[in-house]
Amino acid sequence: MSTHHRQQAIDALLDHIRAEALSCGACTGRPMLSDRVMRAMAAVPRDAFVDPDLQDEAWLDAPLPIGHQQTISQPFIVALMTDLIDPKPDDVVLEIGTGSGYQAAVLAGLVKQVQSVEVIGALARMAAQRLQGMGLHNVHVHHSDGHSGWPAGGPYDAIVVTAASPVIPPALVEQLKPGGRMVIPVGPQHGRQELVLVSKDAQGQVTESGLLPVAFVPLTGGAPALRA
Ligand code: SAH
Repeated sequence: MSTHHRQQAIDALLDHIRAEALSCGACTGRPMLSDRVMRAMAAVPRDAFVDPDLQDEAWLDAPLPIGHQQTISQPFIVALMTDLIDPKPDDVVLEIGTGSGYQAAVLAGLVKQVQSVEVIGALARMAAQRLQGMGLHNVHVHHSDGHSGWPAGGPYDAIVVTAASPVIPPALVEQLKPGGRMVIPVGPQHGRQELVLVSKDAQGQVTESGLLPVAFVPLTGGAPALRA
């Protein structure tokens, strides 16, 4: 793709994200995403996170396969989830489901530090290498089961979960700071999933609000008692 066409594709994607945000605004409470988040979306080269044979689709507002039966999320959903946690420059954020590393890269430009947990070793290694190669040294990728979060890096100002779970893993709620926010797709593997915003107030009181229907790959594994 020529530089000119690439820039056109990026601009078209940003326009699409703005239009999507507006049309879902009544549900999400975010009809306009923050300029900071939109700039971060513009700054991360999504084409660097997908295979060479998918380059023509890299800037479409659609999920794409990344191997191992996993996907890089739809850019609008990445932008929305990022906006919903209100990322601040001093924040320490936990991501569950590193996948390609794209969401982690978007977060890396907005917060102080990102800890990201991926259960598939090959994806964790590839994402870590890619993020290092891009000079994003404030992202730390861990090969582990995200149901346990990453206690060593916490507690967190915000948590972004990019795989769907029938229940909100309790360890993640524990690792959220008072005043913290978590976004997580909740629901069964093939059933109705909903993007849920979890807020912990200064007293540690937790509230959940369902925002909009979504379709994520499942959060695999976890304690048997917590399975659907
Ligand atoms: N955030 C990713 C999208 C990831 S798709 C991106 O920007 O590309 C969801 C990811 O969650 C997959 O890579 C999958 O392997 C991972 N995953 C599934 N179950 C998990 C678990 N229990 N712990 C950590 N990661 C998990």
